[in-house]
Parts: sequence; C-alpha cells; structure tokens
Amino acid sequence: MASSQHDDLVDLRSDTVTAPTEGMRAAMARAEVGDDVYAEDPTCRALEERVAGMLGKEAALFTATGSLANLLGVRALVSPGSEVLCESRAHIARAELGAHAAIFGVTTRTWAHPRGLIDLDAVHSLLAPDAGPYFVSTAAVSIENTHNFGGGSVQPLDSMRKLREIVAPVGVGVHLDGARLWNASAATGITPGEYAEFADTASVCLSKGLGAPVGSLVAGTAAQIEEARVWRKRLGGGWRQAGVLAAAGLYALDHHVQRVTEDHAHARLLAERLAQTAPGIVDPATAETNIVVLDLAAAGVGPDAGEVASRAREAGVLVSVLGPRALRLVTHLDVDEAGCRRAADVLAAALS
Ligand SMILES: *Cc1c(COP(=O)(O)O)cnc(C)c1O
Repeated sequence: MASSQHDDLVDLRSDTVTAPTEGMRAAMARAEVGDDVYAEDPTCRALEERVAGMLGKEAALFTATGSLANLLGVRALVSPGSEVLCESRAHIARAELGAHAAIFGVTTRTWAHPRGLIDLDAVHSLLAPDAGPYFVSTAAVSIENTHNFGGGSVQPLDSMRKLREIVAPVGVGVHLDGARLWNASAATGITPGEYAEFADTASVCLSKGLGAPVGSLVAGTAAQIEEARVWRKRLGGGWRQAGVLAAAGLYALDHHVQRVTEDHAHARLLAERLAQTAPGIVDPATAETNIVVLDLAAAGVGPDAGEVASRAREAGVLVSVLGPRALRLVTHLDVDEAGCRRAADVLAAALS
C-alpha cells in the first residue's frame, strides 16, 4: 500500500508515519465489533487481555494515544499536588504538552542523563516520599524504555530492578513509558513482561514500530485499570466500535514484533555511515534500536539542524529537528535498506 507521500521519499521523522499494510487493513475489515463503552467489543477485549498477559499485569486499557496511556498510568500513581520524577527529556515531561500538570495537578522534577537512562544516585537524592507540609511529596518515578530523545536507548534491567528496590519500600510507584518496549525487548531478548515486572503501571504503543494506524495500552492492577477506564471516558476518550482499531493492533502483535530487528539494523547502518562522514556526530555503538540522534555540535558541522533538514528534504529525505544542533532519524516498517542507504548519502552531502 502506497503511503500518502511520493514514492521515492524516505521519511525518517518518526516511526509513527507508517501506513497500515494490506494484511492489516484486511484484519481491520474483518474485525468483530461491539460498543466498547458498554465493554462489549470482543476485539478490544482480546487486545486488552493479550497485552495485559504480555506485561504480566491483571488488566489493560486500549487508548487512542500513548500520551493518554501515560496520562492514565501516571494518574493511577500520583495524586494532585504530588510529583513524578523522570529524566529531563522524558516524553511525559517534554512531549505531552504539560498534560500531567494541566489535567491532573501532577508536578515533575527531573534528573539528566545524556542517553536518558536511570540514574540511581539522582533518584536517591530527589526522592521525597513524605515531604511534609512544605515540600512536594514524590509519588512515582517514570522510566522510558526505550528512551526516545535519548536516542532509542535501552534501560538496563538491573537498573530497573534496583530502582524498584529503592522506591517500593517507601510507597513510591513506578510507571514505565514503554512506547517502544518492543524495541527494547528485541534488542536484548528480555521480554516486555520481565521489564514491566519492575513497574506498577506500564504503557505500550502499537502505532510506532509496530505499524498500527492508532493505539496504545496502559496496564496495571484490575482496580487501577477499572478507574483508568472511567477517566478515559471522562476525558472524552471512550469509543464505540473500536474493534476495527484493536484488530490492527492484534495484527501488529502477530506480524510486526519480530521484524523490528530489521529497523535496528537499518539504524545501525545510518549511524555507521554518518559517523564515517562526520566523526563525532553519533557513536554507532549507541544506535541500539531504531533511533539515531545526531549531534552536529560534537561533529563540528557548519550548518545548523534546520538547514541540514531542509537540504535533505529537497533531496527527498525527511528528518526531525530536535534542537538547533540536533537531528533525529527513526527507522520503521516503511523504510527498507536501500532507502536508508540513500538517506545516508543525502545526509552526508547535506552535512557538509
Ligand atoms: C510517541 C511516544 C509516546 C506517545 O505518543 P502519542 O503520540 O501520544 O501516541 C509516549 N512515549 C514515548 C516515549 C513516545 O515516543
């Protein structure tokens, strides 16, 4: 199925740009449906049960977006006026338009890590579970795996285990933003359930590397998810015959999970080619999954990120500008190895 873009365009802005395949569209067309607000959509139920099982949680809720899944997952752990700790470039802190604060009164403090990883010492010093009548109390820590703006980095399982050991005894929860948990799992062989074991609530996306047009889930205890269902409806996120979308998600879980390793190989290829052209722009060893962040300053590249992106666009390659001196490339289902080789050539020229 052709995407809306012209044929030879290589779109590396995000793994959200994929169009559903013929097989996925056929599965959507066949989906059995019912009214999901009445909890009568069998395909939504099947998807929720399957993902809850994969994450080792009692229940899961299908949502339109990963932002909504994170909003509901954090809300389950943090009451208004309390805080969630996270890394400084976490999606919940940077890319959800302040929803956690604007809607649920959640405040945030952050630690910074160049790759977005857990810093146990920083968590130790930030953690304030019972801060009394003056300071904000910490109710949860949120971890992103893989970390998007950290360059698709994988959180070490041992750090997640230790984090849980630090926070659980003082009554602080852990939310796992697992929009790309499939990628982490493919890179390490550690199952999504093994990662989610060290979190109370966890979100996953179907519309990133897995190629579904829409959809995420949030998982947790039966009680948390029952309440999340109420809040989803209250926020206007109840939906009716959503089984057509859940069918795309089930199809993605059947057919598109294993293949993310191809995206990882393509990201590695891009990182290696660009590191040769512009030494310092990226360490290929850090291209662990499907995201490559380019540091133009470290490589002493002349033009700024916006200029490089517009030169690349003229040559049919789309990339994201993360900042004045940073670009992001994301590989996915709709770019093949030849496309990545062409993108590497175009970017090499655009950087000089
Ligand atoms: C994309 C993404 C989300 C969710 O994004 P939506 O666009 O709301 O679906 C959440 N967390 C991370 C790390 C992401 O990359």
